[in-house]
Amino acid sequence: MVGAGYAGMAAAVTLAQRGARSVVFESGPVPGGRARRVATQGRTLDNGQHVLVGAYATLFSLMRAVGVPANAVLRMPLELRYADGVRLRRLFLPEPLGLLGGLLAARGLPWRERLGALRFMRALRRLGFRLPEDCSVQQLLARHAQDGRIGHYVWKPLCVSALNTPPERASANVFLAVLRDTLAGGEDASDLLLPRVDLSRLFPEPAAAWLATQGGELRCGSTVRELGALRAQFDAVILAVGPHQLKALAPQLARDFEYQPIYTCYLQYEARIRLPLPMLGLAHGVVQWVFDRGALTGDKGLLAAVISAQGDHQQMTHEALAAACHRELAAALPSLPPPQWSQVIAEKRATIAVGASLARPAIDTGMPGVFLAGDYTDPEYPPTLEAAARSGVRAAQSALQA
Ligand SMILES: Cc1cc2nc3c(=O)[nH]c(=O)nc-3n(C[C@H](O)[C@H](O)[C@H](O)COP(=O)(O)OP(=O)(O)OC[C@H]3O[C@@H](n4cnc5c(N)ncnc54)[C@H](O)[C@@H]3O)c2cc1C
Repeated sequence: MVGAGYAGMAAAVTLAQRGARSVVFESGPVPGGRARRVATQGRTLDNGQHVLVGAYATLFSLMRAVGVPANAVLRMPLELRYADGVRLRRLFLPEPLGLLGGLLAARGLPWRERLGALRFMRALRRLGFRLPEDCSVQQLLARHAQDGRIGHYVWKPLCVSALNTPPERASANVFLAVLRDTLAGGEDASDLLLPRVDLSRLFPEPAAAWLATQGGELRCGSTVRELGALRAQFDAVILAVGPHQLKALAPQLARDFEYQPIYTCYLQYEARIRLPLPMLGLAHGVVQWVFDRGALTGDKGLLAAVISAQGDHQQMTHEALAAACHRELAAALPSLPPPQWSQVIAEKRATIAVGASLARPAIDTGMPGVFLAGDYTDPEYPPTLEAAARSGVRAAQSALQA
């Protein structure tokens, strides 16, 4: 296995569950890849705030298998609450009543648009959440008159958060797959799950510990530079590296994807500073969501402001961006004092851009004994932790069959 991100560790765990021993080579000092703990300037942070949803069935099953305790995440029913008072919350009712009731009880969205959203969901159900011809999310929303306030506060933020691609470019069919499995999924499928431990401890490290009990091994700080030597040494090789990292190992398999960034700005305030809930939306500036790390990881007074996908913020210095984030937070949270410190972590190639009709590479590479895993290979999901986990399981199954 090359790569100890969520995909590589999912593959290694799946192999071990079927009795196959694997060695995982990882360049970095800790496992996790694009979802990892980083030690920087004497602080321990995540490379970016992550949100999981109830529909992440494959990942949760693997987490349970390697002994991650349920309290490693904070589970909450879907709630989109904005600092300006707009609020949509799924109600504790069996589906589809939970979403229906939530839309009817929503605050700050006109009646006409809330009823329109229910009609939109009905129309999507009739279509089986799949368009015969893909288009952009923006076009889909315009076609169904969903581009007013409901578009601004609900659909577009969901698109950017899930696909990390602006609605004018994002694939409607990938967005519909997300809506099908979350809003229109089972009762808990749209729940939000926020990590209470760092991202390496959330799955990759417990997976590595469990793997060791099964005879497997994780070697951190171990960059694979040549595929040939691995192929000679092992029965199968799973390349679970990021899409842009494939070029160095197997140029014939690499593709020229476009990428989208995710910026996380950490702002440390006095310990008494808290958000009214662990995740709050800001809908009028550069910050999209802000997370209360005190309520999650116990880092009191630490807020994480998240900016997904491309935007003007990419032209700002980190100092200017942190100052802009603080200004937006101060406008939303009265009498917020200046931060004691701030730190921006910019993941410039956080994920591939998921444009309309994007083709994904197959897990089976055509090279004997070589398989691909990674968030970018899932045929229908956006590049997420769940897509990574699903791809790892599928790559392991293909390797075992071969
Ligand atoms: C800031 C940020 C926020 C995000 N937010 C969310 C979110 O809220 N929810 C969500 O579901 N997803 C989110 N994502 C996406 C999610 O993190 C990724 O989809 C997932 O982590 C990808 O996992 P992967 O295993 O496919 O790839 P990676 O995590 O990229 O793993 C590849 C691994 O391979 C290693 N590697 C590469 N080359 C070599 C080599 N030659 N030898 C050895 N090792 C090598 C790398 O070091 C890396 O550890 C976010 C991503 C970022 C960056």
